[in-house]
Amino acid sequence: MRTAYFLFIFFLLIGCTEKEKGEKPAKTLNWYKGNLHTHSYWSDGDEFPEVILDWYKANEYNFLALSDHNTIARDEKWVTISEDTLRQKAFQTYLKEYGSDWVNHKVDSGRTMVRLKTFEEYSGWVQEEGKFLVIPSEEITDRYEDKHIHMNATNIQEMIEPQGGNSVLEVMQNNIDQVLEQRKTTGVPIIPHINHPNFYYSIDLEDMIALKGERFFEVYNGHPAVHNMGDSTHISTEEMWDIININYLAEGKPMMYGLANDDSHNYHRKGKKWSNAGRGWVMVQADTLSAIKLINALEAGDFYSTTGVELKEVQFENNVLKVEVDVEEDIEYVIEFIGCKKGDSQTQSFKTVKGEKAQFSLESDMLFVRAKISSTALQDNPVENMVYEMAWTQPVRPDH
Ligand SMILES: [Zn+2]
Ligand SMILES: [Zn+2]
Repeated sequence: MRTAYFLFIFFLLIGCTEKEKGEKPAKTLNWYKGNLHTHSYWSDGDEFPEVILDWYKANEYNFLALSDHNTIARDEKWVTISEDTLRQKAFQTYLKEYGSDWVNHKVDSGRTMVRLKTFEEYSGWVQEEGKFLVIPSEEITDRYEDKHIHMNATNIQEMIEPQGGNSVLEVMQNNIDQVLEQRKTTGVPIIPHINHPNFYYSIDLEDMIALKGERFFEVYNGHPAVHNMGDSTHISTEEMWDIININYLAEGKPMMYGLANDDSHNYHRKGKKWSNAGRGWVMVQADTLSAIKLINALEAGDFYSTTGVELKEVQFENNVLKVEVDVEEDIEYVIEFIGCKKGDSQTQSFKTVKGEKAQFSLESDMLFVRAKISSTALQDNPVENMVYEMAWTQPVRPDH
């Protein structure tokens, strides 16, 4: 204990000397686990916000964005608990576990009504410095004719009304512009991301390619109706991702990064036809758990998306992309480096390695490369035919 104390003082002094010299001591980078797309009773989710947050916190997530449709949960909202037995039961559990001092409810003509906790209240309930962070968010939910156009604004400060427009592209762009405008006026980093483009096959590849200022989209979404894998006439979101980047780079835009998110709505029924929690998440590498640091890291591509496979290391240095899996017992892994040569119109598989570790040297004739890690681990509660756990790193470019 004494030794530890002296060591602490010693390092503190070293820290001070270094500071005086004007050098910042290098901070350790941590992996933070988070989900940026979640619903609650504030819109069409079937659970109370703090119950959802407590679930994610207990399941080793470090950050969560409750992204309800067209709300940022700042006002007073009462919900009526429907007659559905599951919801009635869930309310009773909520009341029992959180207590009548916390749960604000009343019974009116035999119907139970509950006041939802606001963003301030639920984040205050669950947040813990360095351990768990709640990021304000809204799923801006818009339409063009029969097309469903949804996008999240992570770290939003003021609610944004759906902006509308005269085409799918215009609706997307109008909403993105609003998010970026708010970022500019507030000086707070806020990022838009396009959600589930294949939901009702609403957003075409051409529309994604034409976007300006959009750097993120969902390559994986855990909702059962979003067609991550596409079908016989529509490409998968992963194929979409690569073609977007080939076109983005041709136009000198920064690359599009791919997120994995739950888009969870259903907390009482589990299975393929429900949108459940815990299916897809991001692992972000940053030195501090704060919205600003996380957004900086996301924008720098310092993260990977996963449906279960976790990585020990993703490093890109001197044009070498290195990946190391955090292995689970009796599970096999395949690391594939997918990329595109300059001038090509599609990607190819450059290298495939069976095992937990691999690296790939980018040549100067390559446009970008990313790694996809597949495994033999069965996902606990998959959607579509995505039965095995996998992970995707973000694309990188050679610097020569
Ligand atoms: Zn949506
Ligand atoms: Zn959603």
